[in-house]
Amino acid sequence: MKQSQLFTKTLKDISADETSKNAQLLMRAGFVHKTMAGSYTFLPLGLRVLTKIEDIVRTKMNELGAQEMTMSMLHPSELWKITGAWDQVDVLFKIKSRTEREYAIGQSEEEVVTPIIKEYVRSYKDLPFIGYQIHWKFRDELRAKAGIMRGREFLMKDMYTIHENQDAFDAFYKEAKEKYLQVYKEIGLVAKATEASGGSFSKKISYEFMVLTSAGEDDILYSEASDYCINSEITKLKEGDDAPDGSGKLKSGKASEVGNVFDLGTRYQDAFDFSFLDKNGEKQKGVMGCYGIGVTRIMGVIAETMSDEKGLVWPASVAPFALHLLVLSKDKEGDTYKKAEELYKKLTDQGVEVLFDDRDISAGEKFADSDLIGIPMRAVVSDKSLLAGGVELKERKAEKGDVVSVQSFLKSFEGDCK
Ligand code: ATP
Ligand code: MG
Repeated sequence: MKQSQLFTKTLKDISADETSKNAQLLMRAGFVHKTMAGSYTFLPLGLRVLTKIEDIVRTKMNELGAQEMTMSMLHPSELWKITGAWDQVDVLFKIKSRTEREYAIGQSEEEVVTPIIKEYVRSYKDLPFIGYQIHWKFRDELRAKAGIMRGREFLMKDMYTIHENQDAFDAFYKEAKEKYLQVYKEIGLVAKATEASGGSFSKKISYEFMVLTSAGEDDILYSEASDYCINSEITKLKEGDDAPDGSGKLKSGKASEVGNVFDLGTRYQDAFDFSFLDKNGEKQKGVMGCYGIGVTRIMGVIAETMSDEKGLVWPASVAPFALHLLVLSKDKEGDTYKKAEELYKKLTDQGVEVLFDDRDISAGEKFADSDLIGIPMRAVVSDKSLLAGGVELKERKAEKGDVVSVQSFLKSFEGDCK
């Protein structure tokens, strides 16, 4: 894409009431626009990142055998009254229609998915049920001060399962936990899984997936030498104690929860009177699970943890573009400009995602914008680079770049369809 065509620009001034680092960076770089606290528009650059995170999550969930759908967001209050959540869930947005009917806006979708399961699952032969969606959630969050890490509307991957019995559930649960760790790794985040009791849901085990960041709202104790990690709220352990897995001393830190998995037992089967027939023709409720991943929160955590004083530093797996191509010549008829355009065309034809800074602005502005936007690789075509033998290539993370020949520059992107 040509940067002259991109409708967003980098901004020097953003509204003073935005105090979170992730939103400040994302707003300045033109990835998101703030509608109000906790509510952001994802602009073209931001949407590209979000879509890439989504695609990684989608691929991994499909590998688990999960089937994607999109559930309704507007629900009749009756569904939420069946489980009691209408009165118990304080973040639930409730609206009244002009005919005085009451509705809820989805903050999680157990109340919607259980009737779907009830409609289609009749026998053990119909199990397991493994369904998910990647969809917007709405919550009346009181403290929406963490930018896109805590939205009043936010994108979540939510998966729901029913298994025939505890053994079948436990085997899947283990697989799902491993898949979650793969998701974070592929995105470029180091996530640790805490083990906790299921809170309001049940006494069963749940896992929370935590990424260390000072912007996080959870306090954890963790071992640097292993994956061991626990939420400080639930434990008698403290900093400096020996980690229970024997890997060394525990450290304390702030972390952000980027996902979780819960064993829900039979809570929703009971509420919606769901059962299926087992091999012996007897009624069973099976075991239900729910599995969340905070897609927009992950983007915020990346902005928080992978950035420097100059701006964002996207990991290649979710970067809005693979390459930022800068031309430092304003003479559109000159050789330098033509060379840059030719490279842009060749790479784009090759399937490489290139943002081409073809704008009529100073070199200094182009460099500053490139650092702020944070595309992992920058290529500069200038009179100087061509004299030195080609294109100056620099990783966003690196201090300095190298001049490489045009030929080897093009070759380095061969077979790279991003
Ligand atoms: P938290 O304790 O952070 O409020 P939660 O326990 O309410 O999270 P769930 O309802 O299980 O979270 O949602 C699943 C995932 O969605 C969370 O692990 C988190 O990554 C993400 N998430 C939850 N609330 C928000 C929010 N307000 N904004 C952005 N992401 C969120
Ligand atoms: Mg919450």
